[in-house]
Amino acid sequence: MRFSGLKILKEGLTGNKGWRPHWRDPQPKSEYDIIIIGGGGHGLACAHYLASQHGITNVAVLERGYIGGGNVGRNTTIVRANYSLPGNSEFYSHSLKLWEGLEQDLNYNVMHSQRGIINLFHSDGQRDDFARRGNMMLSQGDDAELLDTEGVRKKLPYLDFEQTRFPIFGGLFHARGGTARHDAVAWGFARGADSRGVDLIQKCEVTGIDIQNGVVTGVQTSRGPIRAKKVAMMGAGRSSQIADMAGMRLPIESHVLQAFVTEGLKPCIDHVITYGMGHFYISQSDKGGLVFGGDLDMYASYAARGNLPLVEHVVEAGMTLMPMIGKAKMLRSWGGIMDMSPDGSPIIDRTHIDGLFVSCGWCYGGFKAVPAGGHVMAHLLATDQYHPNATGFRLDRFRSGVGIIDEEATGSQHNLH
Ligand SMILES: Cc1cc2nc3c(=O)[nH]c(=O)nc-3n(C[C@H](O)[C@H](O)[C@H](O)COP(=O)(O)OP(=O)(O)OC[C@H]3O[C@@H](n4cnc5c(N)ncnc54)[C@H](O)[C@@H]3O)c2cc1C
Repeated sequence: MRFSGLKILKEGLTGNKGWRPHWRDPQPKSEYDIIIIGGGGHGLACAHYLASQHGITNVAVLERGYIGGGNVGRNTTIVRANYSLPGNSEFYSHSLKLWEGLEQDLNYNVMHSQRGIINLFHSDGQRDDFARRGNMMLSQGDDAELLDTEGVRKKLPYLDFEQTRFPIFGGLFHARGGTARHDAVAWGFARGADSRGVDLIQKCEVTGIDIQNGVVTGVQTSRGPIRAKKVAMMGAGRSSQIADMAGMRLPIESHVLQAFVTEGLKPCIDHVITYGMGHFYISQSDKGGLVFGGDLDMYASYAARGNLPLVEHVVEAGMTLMPMIGKAKMLRSWGGIMDMSPDGSPIIDRTHIDGLFVSCGWCYGGFKAVPAGGHVMAHLLATDQYHPNATGFRLDRFRSGVGIIDEEATGSQHNLH
């Protein structure tokens, strides 16, 4: 089913009876070339690129819940390429380029909006840090512009510029950054993969990984055993539990991250804004809700819901930055399970078990990575070679200490990244 303005017009005039489900609901086959565990953004993107770039379609994506029910449908939708360290820089740059052609590639409106991101800074030291980051973004071929206080005031006049505790010194403006509609991204990739023959199997929990003589042979699931030549573990927040089925202990801790949305308001915030003196970021959805978030809940958990102290913490930061949001009513909050790696950067690699691969460690920044994460993982699965833009995400860096990509310089404490 292709989408076009003409089709929308026709359906609008004929009662919207011609739309069909965007993907099939197939029974699992007894064997696939590749099984992907996890129907989140990364698993679906990987399936799409396996089929579209490598012609590998005998693939199943096994999802314990429903497509879009994990973090891919729970995040605050920020898309950016403003990393500074080699390893991350080229990968996120690659991802942003894929985002820029994604709607055409998928023939699906993922509402990608390059409305610009402004990272505020509040001291000379922070300005130096952002200036350095901006230069690294420019040398990667991405965009960055350093704004002073007046430059920020022109774009964001509603911020509290009068407060003396955390005065706004300026901001790093990344014009190509922005947002996308999270669940549309999942649906678009699902549809792309399904239309090329990939089986998307929902309500199918993987409960075991079969290994014989050091070689993966398939998986056990809530819908029976399925054989496979290759298995990709792409379960995000549950990556450690999945790897445990193969007897592996990943360097991942799972933490809760909350997000919040207010009632719908008339357009008032044009950009994505991050606060440099409190962990707080905000944008306005196309429905009008102010979407915002902050820190992790600071303890390891598999509960996809958060706790009140963090709600207070995030709202306090928001009120300090832009007191006007105190007038908006908060409608909902929710949580997602983040797969936190010790250096805050992802893992995309083979494992010591032949045919078993892993993609995880997406922390709270894996949504913007969905296109590239899927793309480079498909490359690794199809060719057995690292994609040139993802050579640094090796699992063994945590054992050897060589090649750690500690973007935030916070050390190895998972919940600080
Ligand atoms: C509140 C919040 C805000 C965020 N904000 C941003 C942001 O602004 N920008 C950004 O870039 N990132 C953001 N993130 C992070 C981003 O959402 C995640 O890093 C990313 O979505 C993780 O990859 P995924 O989409 O593949 O994960 P998921 O959608 O969680 O996919 C993993 C899937 O695996 C399935 N699964 C697990 N175990 C099994 C099993 N045993 N068998 C079968 N299936 C299984 C799960 O059900 C799930 O659907 C945010 C996350 C949260 C929670």
